Amino acid sequence: MVFRHKILAVIKALGGFSLAQTFTKRGLQVLCYHGISLRDEHYFQPKLFMHEDTFRERMAYLKKRGYLVLSLDEALAHMNQKTLPPRALVITFDDGWLGIGTKAAPLLKEYGFPSTLYVTTRDVLSEAPVFDVALRYLLWKKRNETLALSSIGLDSETIVLSTADEREHVACRISEFSKNWDDHDKQAMLLKLTKTLGIDLNPDENNPLFRLMTMEQLARLPLGGMNLQLHTHRHRLPIDDPEGVKSEIIKNRAVLKRIVSGPLQHLCYPSGKFHPSQFPLLKKLGIESATTCLSGFNYPSTEHFALRRFLDGENIAQLEFEAELSGFLELMRKLRWTLQGRQNY
Ligand SMILES: [Zn+2]
Repeated sequence: MVFRHKILAVIKALGGFSLAQTFTKRGLQVLCYHGISLRDEHYFQPKLFMHEDTFRERMAYLKKRGYLVLSLDEALAHMNQKTLPPRALVITFDDGWLGIGTKAAPLLKEYGFPSTLYVTTRDVLSEAPVFDVALRYLLWKKRNETLALSSIGLDSETIVLSTADEREHVACRISEFSKNWDDHDKQAMLLKLTKTLGIDLNPDENNPLFRLMTMEQLARLPLGGMNLQLHTHRHRLPIDDPEGVKSEIIKNRAVLKRIVSGPLQHLCYPSGKFHPSQFPLLKKLGIESATTCLSGFNYPSTEHFALRRFLDGENIAQLEFEAELSGFLELMRKLRWTLQGRQNY
């Protein structure tokens, strides 16, 4: 057990978590998940993918401890009216990874937990592996081996893939090399790489790796209580380009409209990147709320275009998850921010 966990275990045993809950119970917590592993993705990127057993443990904890899981719309309405019940919580998912549909959605339905799935639509329509993530997975699978760049059409260098830095360096070179390619050419590159490295990205045809759900799969989710919302078309929201922002939201919304009957008015910033100068334009585009990757609880005074979330993943120990949910870590953040003299957290 790492030192931080030892401390948290002592604080929990002394009743610190229960006490923290009484001070923070009026804050809204928003949980953020990305993918559920189909095979070993949680070892590859534990912040992005979680094992289904870990996710099951988290949901069981919410049920056991009486957290009130609300839809995003319900929670925001309560926040506006300052009527948020204690232990209110919202569950969100980013991107639309296949494992969310096949593993998380049935479990949420079983528990009766509503949720929001922010969908990035270009990779849904392509029905192909998400290039940047699949590329890094292939290099990770061959860690400690070498890659002759000539085998994929780059230069004559042979790279050792032993450290995360070296693999990231190669991934960036390949991404840069292929940045102006169309999807077809990028997928051809991935195929070439899978053959060179001897890895199958499609070992189970029903569960291909690093794919987002198809439109048909997404269309079935609202029946189980999962509300589909906006995450831009190409997973980007430029900071200084209003036309680019408009185009991303309009395309994203147009694709989702084919399968969503309700309003598409909630946005999740791709990779959590945003700037307050974007808020008026988002409002004009009919957006009511936007979630970030900033940690913290949300209160009636919290800006709806900068909602805070807790990014849960396989990298988060259960004790850490409990510490966050109890509000103990929220109190620690407030204390730190107060000491730093920050007015607005
Ligand atoms: Zn995303």
